[in-house]
Order: sequence, then structure tokens, then C-alpha cells
Amino acid sequence: MTSSFSNLSLAEPLARAVAEMGYESMTPIQAQAIPVVLTGQDVMGAAQTGTGKTAAFSLPLLQRLLKHENTSTSPARHPVRALVLLPTRELADQVAQQIALYAKHTKLRSTVVFGGMDMKPQTLELKKGVEVLVATPGRLLDHIEAKNAVLNQVEYVVLDEADRMLDIGFLPDLQRILSYLPKQRTTLLFSATFSPEIKRLASSYLQNPITIEVARPNETASTVEQRFYSANDDDKRRAIHQVLKSRSIKQAFIFVNSKLGCARLARSLEREGLKTAALHGDKSQDERLKALEAFKKGEVDLLVCTDVAARGLDIKDVPAVFNFDVPFNAEDYVHRIGRTGRAGASGLAVTLVSGSDARLVADIEKLIKKKIELEAIEYDEDQPRGRINDGRRAWREAGETGDGRDGIPSGPRRERDREYRGGRESREGREQHRGFRPAVASRDPFFEKPYEASPAGDNAPAWEASRSAGPRSSVSANIKPKRKVAALFKAAVTS
Ligand code: AMP
Repeated sequence: MTSSFSNLSLAEPLARAVAEMGYESMTPIQAQAIPVVLTGQDVMGAAQTGTGKTAAFSLPLLQRLLKHENTSTSPARHPVRALVLLPTRELADQVAQQIALYAKHTKLRSTVVFGGMDMKPQTLELKKGVEVLVATPGRLLDHIEAKNAVLNQVEYVVLDEADRMLDIGFLPDLQRILSYLPKQRTTLLFSATFSPEIKRLASSYLQNPITIEVARPNETASTVEQRFYSANDDDKRRAIHQVLKSRSIKQAFIFVNSKLGCARLARSLEREGLKTAALHGDKSQDERLKALEAFKKGEVDLLVCTDVAARGLDIKDVPAVFNFDVPFNAEDYVHRIGRTGRAGASGLAVTLVSGSDARLVADIEKLIKKKIELEAIEYDEDQPRGRINDGRRAWREAGETGDGRDGIPSGPRRERDREYRGGRESREGREQHRGFRPAVASRDPFFEKPYEASPAGDNAPAWEASRSAGPRSSVSANIKPKRKVAALFKAAVTS
């Protein structure tokens, strides 16, 4: 159920900002959370990204901070009053951009700090004084230790994507940060799931929270058409070409389970003529933002990403999501396909299933409570086999399966191979990666070269090679696909 923002009696500068955003009615999480946050109560909210939860916490929070608005140039008059913590740089950047838009007609200041960027410009911003500070935990601790951020006047703290913060191993950092905050404060916790760990976190740091739950974590939007195609590892790229062509899909996210597989798949698809960018934990912050921006502008058709790198990305209207690898966690399946079919738009989620994925598919079936039909893909005659086969031959010669993993790795190998998710990041490299260096016998020079963290050389996709070293530009919300891939979809044959 949705209702109008006008029922909220938002202050004029906030109401004006909302109107300028073009929001007509509140989303369910907003309708439920905003009135509660306006009363200053603690909230435990179960909501996925894409539900409008950023506005759900930031609008009432800004409204309550309006009493502190002032035009003084003295930093002392602009202490941090609200702290918003997020697990990844991209999320922090996105949320900070949204908050800046909601606050743009107020005199409240906001900024964002996250790792992988020079601390100096962040320090300058912090020293000027800001009322709303958006941060990733590791970098915030660096600023606290450097005495750039003082948190003793914080009235509101938001733990956003709390489950993912725990997943990444941020609990000790969160505990330290929360120990610097006044006891008397409002705490808002948002999480896709209410796992026992999240409940423990909430019982330690929230006081009589109001629980708000708008979408169950195992629900997949009815607007997403979910297809599961049988494809062995050698055929997966061909399958992607076929689906893109037959469904006339211009842009898509492609999910893989490892950073290595992500970089390689992006390069292969680029070589096969698709404008592709990779988004994974080994990319520098600048590269990640550039990749996102290029995708949003339609300069890139395919964004190949790992789960951690893609979590919460706010890109509207992605027509399709591919699971090149079936995710190890069924919950990641729900998060992945939540990138498409947003806000009532229709979307397509294609999962490519190889022989060894049966158990993972059964897990997904159990979670989404839907029977999964495995289908065969009918390939067009004019499918450019040769071009793709060239790449596959290189893979075979390299003794690889093409997705950076030879079958599903088990135990420690699987953990190492996938995007970094556990343990605290090193002091130096917080929000950076842990290196995975596979030892692969290879005759292809490309595979003999160890995987490099920030490929920008000859092998890099065109968009990466041409990127400028200029300052980080803002991420546009517009997706303007340029390429046209037109053909009729041939019905898949049930295997
Ligand atoms: P979030 O879940 O906060 O990441 O928001 C997802 C997207 O929904 C963002 O692009 C918001 O700008 C947009 N959004 C938030 N609230 C509304 C609303 N009430 N109506 C339409 N779009 C919204």
C-alpha cells in the first residue's frame, strides 16, 4: 500500500526536493518507516535495495536535523549529527548522492568517506563540518583515529545493509564505531534478512525497536521472468549471445562467482564485440565508478560483476540479469535478480546451469518456493560460433573452463576463489581485495600473465583503456542504451 508524501507534513525544503525527484507516492517501506523515524524511535527494517529505503530513513532524519540548520562558517557549528554506515564504497556513494539531493534545499551539510580514495579531500570536508556523514566502517575508523571525525554529538545512526556488513566481517569495526557514539541516540538498522546474528546486533544496540518488514528476503518480484537454461561451461558465452539477440536485450548485468572469472569473462565478451565492463573487488574505486557511469550512460552494454561489488547498485531498468555462475548462496540469487524488474518494470533473469550445479539450483528452488524448469537453448543458425569458439579454444588450451573456476570449487578453494566476504580487511587495504592467484598451466600468454588488480593496458576493454585520469565524476541515473540487437526470440525447448 502506498500513500502520498503530502500526508507527512514534511518541511517545505524536503517536500520540494521530493517533488523534484518526481516521487508521486511513498513506497511501502517509506509509508511505514518515515512516520516512526519522525518520532525518534529505533527501527529494525527488513527491506531490500530498490524499495526506497534510503529516502525512508534519510527524509525523516533530515527533518529532525533541521533544528540544527545554520549558515555559520565555523566547523564547530556543524558537528556530525547523523552517521550512515554501509558495507561498500558504491553503496556509500549512492546513498550519499541521494541524501545530498534530499537535503539540497536545506542548509544541512553532508559528505561521504570510503576506502580506496585519498584521505586528504575527505579530511578537508570533515574539517569544514558536516551534519550528515555517510561512511564505510574501515575508512571511518581511519578518520576517527586521525581525529578528523568526532562523533560525540551524533543523534542518529543508520546501519544500512547490516547483514552484508556482518558478512564482510565488519562487526568489530561497527562495535568500535558505536562505542564512540552517545548512548542517547536513535538507531536504525536495515537488513535484507533478520538472521540470528542481525537479531543479536539489534538487541545489543537498539532500544525497543519498531520492526518493519516490507518484503520477505526470499521473495522474487513477480515482474521478473526467471529462466534456467542448461549450458555447459563451454557454451555459456554463446548462450548469453543467443539470449541477448533473441530477446533484443540491450543491457544486462552478468553475475559470476569469482573476481578472476569476472575479469576474464568481461575481456572475452569484449573481444566478441560486446561493450563490456567488469565490476569486482579488485577494481579501484575510480574504475568502479567509471564502469557504473559508463553502464548508466549506455556506453557499456554488459556489466559483469561479483555479488559483493554489485550489492545494492541503484541502476534502474536493467532489462536482464544473467547468472553466468549459479550463486553459491541461494539468497544471492534473490539479490542478483532483484537488479531487474524494479518498480513494476518487467525484467528477465537467466541462469545458466551446468551439470555440477544441481545442488545449488535445488537450494534456490527451496528458497524461492517455485518449481524450476531447466530448459535447453535453441541456437540460431547465424550465431557467430567461430568468433566465440576462438575464445573457447583458448580456454581449453589453457585448461580452464572459461569462468575462472574448474567446476565448483570446494571448501577453502571456493572461499578463496569467490569475492572476499569474511574477516576484517587489512588496515592498509580496507575495502580492497584479498589476492587470489590461481596456478594454472597455460599456453596462452594471457593466462600465463598473473591476474592484475587494475587492468588498464592493452587487454583492457575499450572503455577502460580510454578512461581519463581526471577527477571522479558523479554517477548519472540515466541509462541510454546505444546498441541495438534485434531478433525474435525462439521459444526454448524444454529438455
Ligand atoms: P533505494 O531502495 O533507497 O536504493 O531506492 C531505489 C530507487 O528508488 C532510487 O533510485 C530512488 O530514487 C527511488 N525512489 C525512492 N523513493 C521513491 C518513491 N517514493 N517513488 C519513486 N521512486 C523512488
